[in-house]
Amino acid sequence: MGDEPLNTRREVVRIVGAGPTGVLLAILLQRRGHPVELYESLADPRQSGAQSGRSINLALADRGIHALQMAGVFKDIERSMLPMRGRLIHDAHGGTSLQPYGQRPNEVIYSISRHRLNVCLLDVAARQPGVNVHFQHRLETADFERGVARIRDIAQDRLIEVPMQPLLAADGAGSRLRRCMSAQQLITASETDLMHGYKELSIPPAPDGRHAMASDALHIWPRGDYMLIALPNEDGSFTATLFLAKRGTVSFESLTESAAIEDFLSRSFPDACRLMPDRVAEFQQHPVGFLGTVSAHPWHHRGMTLLIGDSAHAIVPFHGQGMNACFEDCAEFDACMARHSSWEAVFAEFAALRKPNTDAIAAMALDNYMEMRERVADHRFQLQQALSLELERRFPQRFIPRYSMVMFHHEIPYRTALERGTVQTELLQQLTAGSAATLDDVDFARAEQAIGARLAPLF
Ligand SMILES: Cc1cc2nc3c(=O)[nH]c(=O)nc-3n(C[C@H](O)[C@H](O)[C@H](O)COP(=O)(O)OP(=O)(O)OC[C@H]3O[C@@H](n4cnc5c(N)ncnc54)[C@H](O)[C@@H]3O)c2cc1C
Repeated sequence: MGDEPLNTRREVVRIVGAGPTGVLLAILLQRRGHPVELYESLADPRQSGAQSGRSINLALADRGIHALQMAGVFKDIERSMLPMRGRLIHDAHGGTSLQPYGQRPNEVIYSISRHRLNVCLLDVAARQPGVNVHFQHRLETADFERGVARIRDIAQDRLIEVPMQPLLAADGAGSRLRRCMSAQQLITASETDLMHGYKELSIPPAPDGRHAMASDALHIWPRGDYMLIALPNEDGSFTATLFLAKRGTVSFESLTESAAIEDFLSRSFPDACRLMPDRVAEFQQHPVGFLGTVSAHPWHHRGMTLLIGDSAHAIVPFHGQGMNACFEDCAEFDACMARHSSWEAVFAEFAALRKPNTDAIAAMALDNYMEMRERVADHRFQLQQALSLELERRFPQRFIPRYSMVMFHHEIPYRTALERGTVQTELLQQLTAGSAATLDDVDFARAEQAIGARLAPLF
């Protein structure tokens, strides 16, 4: 390896996994002059259509958008994004209330089709000379002594060997490379499953072709131990996701008979059921998806391999940040490349900068799970939400709601959002303690004093 910065050398980089992380990385590496060989186990989605069994649409927010802008691919994706201005809560009696996500016109998140996003990124990558995508090529094993990975060419049914100098593992939450590194004790890694799984159901367009509910919101039916959410699609439909215990009295395991499924769905979500004609058949046919948190340390081995994206830090989906965090990884990796002359130094700096932040979003995503299925329906929580927006209006330099820091402020690292969010929650609890029922009952002089003492200016 030479001493010039990596962005002035041309070295072939191999990536495993052409999901959002792998393809955005390929685009960024190529822009820095590195030829890229990208290996993906599945067929080309531009020919094979959407993959079933994965979440159909995703929430894209500021961090992801910022990375896409930085990579120059946002324009290609922007037209497929549907804005969602807040959570529309559906209570058990069919009543609804909107909880805005933010308070400025740009403080919205966007629903985007996973398939469409992937295809857009692949189209951009394919337009770039020097990015070579090998579909139906599955990484099987890695020999770290010899520095080679073994990849199966599925169409030809033959095994090929490729050098890992370097090889970036963007092969998702179930990463084969991470499991190889862990099995050979090069890293320690854990995969913590949630007790809950998920299943997707669909809400077709209304007879006039339009969305059957408000299309500019993320719909939530919070029911304590379980919940249903729905995100809008471009074609007038919604994709609903039911989060429910995998085992137990009311669970995916126990709900097998049509009558029991219908009874559970129609009692829990009567208004949604009126819009889901195929609910029982879909419930029976669709797979249960697994949810969990991946943790690994270190993320890299010499200058040979690096875990990046979900392979390093998959999280539960309740903050809508998994892919956003992956895109932020790509932007951070790109910045590290500009600063160093060896892959080993790039990997080490990238992991050191990124891991505290991805640990923080992993914790906040788990916390948001309770918030979405339980707390959003609680009056005290709603008052605290309203107060946090009011405090942001009054003290914008010091108080930004944690949700807003995560979703709308890419310049605030996740770890800072977690730390400040903990202090802010304490303040909100103190300010709404006792009999406070509305914002008129809040002592704002006390709030100003506490905020001044405990929250340093952000900007
Ligand atoms: C139900 C659900 C809802 C979600 N909602 C959101 C959301 O709203 N917003 C958000 O930001 N994030 C969300 N996420 C998280 C998001 O899906 C992930 O963070 C993101 O897809 C990770 O991207 P990735 O490229 O790292 O991994 P993946 O998307 O998993 O891509 C990995 C790729 O590697 C390929 N691959 C795997 N193994 C091999 C192998 N051995 N050889 C070759 N190729 C291989 C796979 O086929 C795949 O194409 C959600 C996740 C779930 C499960």
